[in-house]
Amino acid sequence: MLQISTVIPVFNEEESLPELTHWISRVMNDHGFSYEIILVNDGSTDSSWEVIGELSKKNGNIKGLNFTRNYGKSAALDAGFSQAKGKVVVTLDADLQDSPDEIPALYQMIVEEGFDVVSGWKKERHDPISKTIPSRFFNGVTRWISGIKLHDFNCGLKAYKLKVVKNIQIYGEMHRYIPLLAKWNGYTKIGEKVVQHQARKYGYSKFGLERFLNGFLDLISVSFVHRYKKKPMHFFGLLGTISFISGFVITVWLIAQKIYSIREGVKVREVVDQPVFFLALVALIVGVQLFVTGFIAELMTSNQSKETEYKIDEQINCSE
Ligand code: UDP
Ligand code: MG
Repeated sequence: MLQISTVIPVFNEEESLPELTHWISRVMNDHGFSYEIILVNDGSTDSSWEVIGELSKKNGNIKGLNFTRNYGKSAALDAGFSQAKGKVVVTLDADLQDSPDEIPALYQMIVEEGFDVVSGWKKERHDPISKTIPSRFFNGVTRWISGIKLHDFNCGLKAYKLKVVKNIQIYGEMHRYIPLLAKWNGYTKIGEKVVQHQARKYGYSKFGLERFLNGFLDLISVSFVHRYKKKPMHFFGLLGTISFISGFVITVWLIAQKIYSIREGVKVREVVDQPVFFLALVALIVGVQLFVTGFIAELMTSNQSKETEYKIDEQINCSE
């Protein structure tokens, strides 16, 4: 069995690839690792794919996958994961910002210390402030939502046990949340390692604020779906109940006020004349609607929930 598969998403990185693959090979050979380098060309418009072809002719450990168009970093990683054969799978960015010198230590943490996932932490990050500030915010929110105490979810340099990457599905901008997906699938031993980080040497960054925001929305929707997909009524029902009870309490209070005013002879506006009554009415209607939404969602997922969800971690086959 191969010891290490490196999976590298490539989008217009023609200048970096020779240096990167050379560097990885040197580290692997120095440590005597058996390895493969899987370069996934994510619809580059430069000559990255031709460069990958040339490099694989020179080094038999290099393998290339070519997408028909740009599908995004998550798709590239997913394709690479499906091909990976190494005991440990290491992901790196293609732009030389992540250092291959970190690979042996990451391998060690997985194989000897038993981590399922080890995530790099670019403690001294060499990126413009327009990236580092949103990133801080993003990391804080992800830590809070996921309960995983990592400093740097977005680091391209991460290592996994092979079975972890075979058992998760990533899409959209999900590449940042692989530790989160791993945790949900029962791979909870998640570690962190401070890694070196370089400024981009060639080309330009492909991740601006827009992709950052998309990633953030993915985090919200994915956490939500993960939590409520089997029991949507727990979400809609709770909101509906809160809304309905608020509306009910306000209405009762207004009516009580009115009854009191009639008995005491004090002048109080008619219940229906009070603006707060409309608020109560809206809350009552919204409450019922949320309940109906929850009910429909339950009906829609009723087939699904009959299937028991599980993931098999390992298997032993008959020897005969
Ligand atoms: N990448 C990709 N598809 C894309 C955008 C980026 O495969 O649509 C790759 C890119 O080639 C690099 C990695 O993802 O290997 C990280 O991209 P980048 O360096 O632009 O991100 P940053 O470091 O600026 O966050
Ligand atoms: Mg980069």
